Amino acid sequence: MTTDANLNDVAASDQRAADPSWQDDVRAGVRHVRDLAALPLSRAERAAAQEAAANHKVRIPRPYLELIDWNDPQDPIRAQVIPSPEELVEAEGELDDPIADHAYSPVPRLTHRHADRVLLFPTYQCAVYCRFCFRKESLTSIGRGYTSEALEPALAYIAEHEEIREVILTGGDPLSLPDKALSEIRARVEAIPHVRLLRIHTRVPVALPSRITSELVAALQGRLMVTVVTHFNHAREITDATEAACRTLRQAGFVLLNQSVLLKGVNDSVEVLEELCRELMYRLGVKPYYLHHGDLARGMAHRRTTIAEGQALVSALRQRLSGICNPTYVIDLPEGGGKVPLASCAIEGRDGEAWRIRGQDGMVRAYREVVG
Ligand code: SF4
Repeated sequence: MTTDANLNDVAASDQRAADPSWQDDVRAGVRHVRDLAALPLSRAERAAAQEAAANHKVRIPRPYLELIDWNDPQDPIRAQVIPSPEELVEAEGELDDPIADHAYSPVPRLTHRHADRVLLFPTYQCAVYCRFCFRKESLTSIGRGYTSEALEPALAYIAEHEEIREVILTGGDPLSLPDKALSEIRARVEAIPHVRLLRIHTRVPVALPSRITSELVAALQGRLMVTVVTHFNHAREITDATEAACRTLRQAGFVLLNQSVLLKGVNDSVEVLEELCRELMYRLGVKPYYLHHGDLARGMAHRRTTIAEGQALVSALRQRLSGICNPTYVIDLPEGGGKVPLASCAIEGRDGEAWRIRGQDGMVRAYREVVG
């Protein structure tokens, strides 16, 4: 496949016959900066949004747009996708490449940070552009879609490195690609015998759930175990449509996990995170996997919490949620340090042979190990 098609292109093409609903959802959403003019923003808000959009692309499919409460300037859905003038304020210490994807990229479109897995970037385009994205510099400056030729060096690299077990399709959003491209990518990866798992990081089930069709599922099914990692940040994103999309993925036999980003003004309260995690697990059948501390992406200081605030939130969550509903609070360290847990440690110290460990009730107890 040699075109660099993406959802915008497909929506505009005659491939719409298979399922008109998601193409309509793309066409009826915000696809260009100029579409912001049609939104119920004040003149000042619109001017500020258009200025900020120059730094990071804007795209909002209809289903996500319809979740916005325009009467609430602090609406958590709006905060995630409508450009804000605060994005133009860059704080000292913010980075173009906060987790060092480029430093660990031996060939184009691939990052190899951990021995047994790689990130593969089939496209740098998304169905929705999130204002807080930690890869926005790549999405803005590269802006390329999928071509089979572009992935050749990355696939050759994976084939040469037998320690690689997992291939993680990310980007950009891999599910913003046409079914034909996804099928081709899946087939090319699964032809490499030592690869065992295909992981897909995507916000499509959240922002464009109509895109999760039986044809898309068929494109991904093959030899490899498939794990889909969704990206819900707020319970308001969980609707009948997102529920149906996740059911389709589950019924295909895919394992579903979710990673959220902790965002000030969006989900930085115990109540919001508690509802999100419960609805993910109980309604969608999606295991809350990671809660990410906000990366050092440029122009995002207004959305980051402190680590201490995040620790307090996850401590409270542990009191309220079962283990299966609790995500792991992590930071993806700069310079390629990888993801590490941030929750405060329950171990308070040691008295001789006994550990002093703080329980969920706040009491510190002595725990003496008994081993054979
Ligand atoms: S979908 Fe993912 S890669 Fe795309 S803008 Fe949102 S967070 Fe970034």
